[in-house]
Amino acid sequence: MAGPGAYIFDLDGVVYHGRSIIPGAAEIIERLRAAGSRVVFLTNNATRTREDIAAKLDGMGIGCSAGDVISSAYAASLHILKQYGPSSFFPIGEQGLVTELERAGHTMSGQNVDCVVVGLDRQFTYDKLAAGLDNLRKGARFIATNTDAMLPTENDFLPGAGSMVAALAAASGVEPEVVGKPNRPIMDVLLREYGLKAGECTMVGDRLETDILAGNNVGMHTVLVLTGASRMEDIEDLGIRPDTILDSIADIG
Ligand SMILES: [Mg+2]
Repeated sequence: MAGPGAYIFDLDGVVYHGRSIIPGAAEIIERLRAAGSRVVFLTNNATRTREDIAAKLDGMGIGCSAGDVISSAYAASLHILKQYGPSSFFPIGEQGLVTELERAGHTMSGQNVDCVVVGLDRQFTYDKLAAGLDNLRKGARFIATNTDAMLPTENDFLPGAGSMVAALAAASGVEPEVVGKPNRPIMDVLLREYGLKAGECTMVGDRLETDILAGNNVGMHTVLVLTGASRMEDIEDLGIRPDTILDSIADIG
């Protein structure tokens, strides 16, 4: 495996499954850090703050602070700031999304907003969809944290942010600007935040069409681990090729 550089880890299916850590994850991350590698966690999850995500990892025995985490909610807040400046927003999403947006200097509002920002919202309603539509019809930008169709849970799947994004896209006829993997904005935020060059980064993910595609698109070394969403046969089916395939995060190094 390439030299110290930086290791970018997706979370679900790579570091843990729901509440259970993947065996060997904590040891590998500690070893990479001891060898001088920067370790960053990169997740499309937009329901929690970076602090919440760091606390979960910390609780699993992986030393982590908010500064080691890039979520699609955090990336959306910085992406909007860089592209459009401080903005008013209507959220279809959970508290973690609202907190990250407000912290970056954006202001939540119900009407005549600059942006409608959509992430996973487990309290999604027809009224929220109608309010999102109303704002888009009045000229708001449509920003999606991610378009993941499903959310993996411990043993099953639930509808993901992509299903809510699709509902608003269908109602409005407007295509969203998507921040999360495999799209460019979250990767640009990551590289900018840590002053990294893509060529010195190894992207480790379990999902070809988000993690591996995102890494390939920016020129990172990509590692598919087989502990999550994608299987070997998906590589041919999707035509998305990782540089390396490993059974698990425990096989890194
Ligand atoms: Mg994953």
